[in-house]
Amino acid sequence: MHRDTTIMHAGYRGTGESGSFLGGPQFSSTYVTPGEPGQHQFTYGRFDNPTWRAWEEALATLEDGQAIAFASGMASVAAVLGTTLKPGDVVVVPSDCYYTTRLLASNWLANIGVEARLAPTRDNGQLRAIKGARLLWIETPTNPQLDVCDVRVLVDAAHNEGALVAVDNTTATAYLQQPLALGADFSVASDTKALTGHSDLLLGHVATNDAERATALRTWRTQHGAIPGPMEVWLAHRSLVTLPLRLTRQCESALKLAMFLRSEPGVADAHYPGLSDHPAHAIAKKQMQAFGSVVSFDLRERERAERFLSALKIVRQATSFGGVHSTAERRARWGGDAVSDGFIRFSVGCEATDDIINDVAGALKA
Ligand code: PLP
Repeated sequence: MHRDTTIMHAGYRGTGESGSFLGGPQFSSTYVTPGEPGQHQFTYGRFDNPTWRAWEEALATLEDGQAIAFASGMASVAAVLGTTLKPGDVVVVPSDCYYTTRLLASNWLANIGVEARLAPTRDNGQLRAIKGARLLWIETPTNPQLDVCDVRVLVDAAHNEGALVAVDNTTATAYLQQPLALGADFSVASDTKALTGHSDLLLGHVATNDAERATALRTWRTQHGAIPGPMEVWLAHRSLVTLPLRLTRQCESALKLAMFLRSEPGVADAHYPGLSDHPAHAIAKKQMQAFGSVVSFDLRERERAERFLSALKIVRQATSFGGVHSTAERRARWGGDAVSDGFIRFSVGCEATDDIINDVAGALKA
């Protein structure tokens, strides 16, 4: 069966069963549980929930591993760091990864005596920092600069050093890139983005092939209370059905937009791993099915970038990415990333490709 078909049906009621396709969200803080708690599948809402079970079954299909759902991408990141690292350990973190992950590594981890070593994603720069590490944290493609590293090469080097490997797979999603199949110990994602794609919820998940690590992550979730709400999970599961359709369209349009931007004399730099002259295009091609919905480019000055953003007619100014509606923002407004004042992160939605490109072309003339 084609993977797209499998994803559409994952976690849904089978053809031989009766009832609704996808059970509704189950809102229960507690369950009727007479006698011994151990004889009941569901006892208390922080421990487990039937809506999570169906969602995690779907995520497991997508990732080809066990999946544990969390309240947000950051809750998933924290769970991996918290279950793998102890005082005295070293973690290697990309110097160009999602800013809040870097903050967590350099603040909270430093407070508990874990050393965070920063190294760049480009040219597999993290290879030089692995010696003696307990965990290698990879993000590829990176947010927002879309640099790419070779997951297989980094995994092999880390495993040789006895380090575990986690890949933040948010920008690609497990539809386009499967970190567990590339040898990683953890695949981590913010499902707030393209995986669910409707800009209406926050969620995250971790996938692993190791039963003990999966149990440790579930225990962390229960004890830290990093649990997803049933409504968000149900919405996410409903959205997952269209993941292949959405991302296929978004990736096609993103490549066309990147090619258009590359041909525009006023655009200093257009980054997209699908462009044949992207520094890591060959690696991206090897480990990704397609290149994702985010394109970034540089208009150099803040004023020019702001003029561009305010002239857009279809594309909304908003942070985050991966949704069905195209969005764009001047990334430097947040601080924290080594980008110019005119750097734009553009999330390509599902609108007709020509409409997106015409909107961008019009706004560039403004
Ligand atoms: N990882 C990456 C690469 C992200 O871009 C983000 C959010 O932008 C996160 C993790 C955190 O996800 P969330 O906002 O769902 O907590």
